[in-house]
Amino acid sequence: MMWRGRPTWAEIDLDAIEANVHALRRRVPAAAVLAAVKANAYGHGAVPVAQAVLRAGAARLGVACVDEGIELRQAGLLAPILVLGYVPPWEAEAAVAHDLTVTANTKQTALALAAAARRSGRTVPVHVKVDTGMARFGLPPADVAPFVGFLLTLSNVHVEGLYTHFATADELDRTFMEEQYRRFRAVADALPRLPVCHVANSAAVIDAPELALDMVRPGISVYGVYPSAQTGRAVQLRPALTLKSRVARLRWLDAGESVSYGRTWVAERPARIALVPCGYGDGLRRSLSNRGSVLIGGRRASIRGRVCMDQCVVDVTDLPDVRLDDEVVLIGRQGDAEVSATEVAEQAGTIAYEIFTGLTPRVPRVYLQGGEVLDIRSLTGSSADLAGPGAGLTPETLRRVSRGGSRE
Ligand SMILES: *Cc1c(COP(=O)(O)O)cnc(C)c1O
Repeated sequence: MMWRGRPTWAEIDLDAIEANVHALRRRVPAAAVLAAVKANAYGHGAVPVAQAVLRAGAARLGVACVDEGIELRQAGLLAPILVLGYVPPWEAEAAVAHDLTVTANTKQTALALAAAARRSGRTVPVHVKVDTGMARFGLPPADVAPFVGFLLTLSNVHVEGLYTHFATADELDRTFMEEQYRRFRAVADALPRLPVCHVANSAAVIDAPELALDMVRPGISVYGVYPSAQTGRAVQLRPALTLKSRVARLRWLDAGESVSYGRTWVAERPARIALVPCGYGDGLRRSLSNRGSVLIGGRRASIRGRVCMDQCVVDVTDLPDVRLDDEVVLIGRQGDAEVSATEVAEQAGTIAYEIFTGLTPRVPRVYLQGGEVLDIRSLTGSSADLAGPGAGLTPETLRRVSRGGSRE
């Protein structure tokens, strides 16, 4: 694939996303899958990813807020969408209008949902979240039965689900996860059986498939990344995202010359450096300054000096074959080499989740399926604006779409 748009872009392999969903389903064959596509599908692009996970048999989509659900509805997606975060009463109307399933954890929101559903002649499905140990969103266990009792008195409200979220499923020590599950079980067993009970994030699907219940909620694993180093490898995952760029300039430095703001790197001997037009404005963390490395020609080149907003500099002294416009991989594989999102995250002092969600809208997303470009989404437009997904997309049309040129 020869991408002819901005020379910094992300390729998203939808085959990998589908394969990951299939692999997760094989781990918990009796459970439905809700794929977490919140935060723009962990930076991968909500709509194309949602379409891919549904093709692969996911039953539902999980988002953090009402707007994320509306974005998916506006793209024509019909699958059930669960809003996992707090929905204030004033968003109830929009949630109902877009047929979202809401985590209803306050009376005010529940009443607003019921009123909105009544006005529009619909029934709004709701789930109740139990705070079993995250001390984040959710009702304390003791409050759940009275609250569900209250929900059951509301017309036009269908109490569909009950769930909780684990704090430590990605750690080796299972003690606290099992304690959280005990608390959840006690709450669930004291209620009339609700149709959809769910507790498992990616780590639990992989390492505690016996907790799959009616539905599981994988996120990071859908994108091909393990939740942590401690998580088992019982499910084979394939990273879906490759962050790429191209060499924008090559030059030699004399010994004693410095690179970038603050002159934090000084060449000790003559050094050949390459400019890469990707910076923290794209999501390349500034904490990778003088730490991270990239791949060029299947070999590693170290980041020198500070990462800037729009560009960074890498050392290619030992890579004499590097030429202008050569492909650079900042996250992903090139040949036999790999800089994984997890490695980048560790070097930046964070987790892959934050690396992915930090990729900004100005990085064009190029969607691949079966080696073909299926879709492109960039600041200046989307190939989805053309008739049908990828329909009639020639390299020339794609180039124009990616630059916001005329669209037939
Ligand atoms: C984001 C999220 C998930 C997915 O977690 P991963 O660790 O990415 O698998 C599951 N459940 C809830 C409630 C979430 O907010």
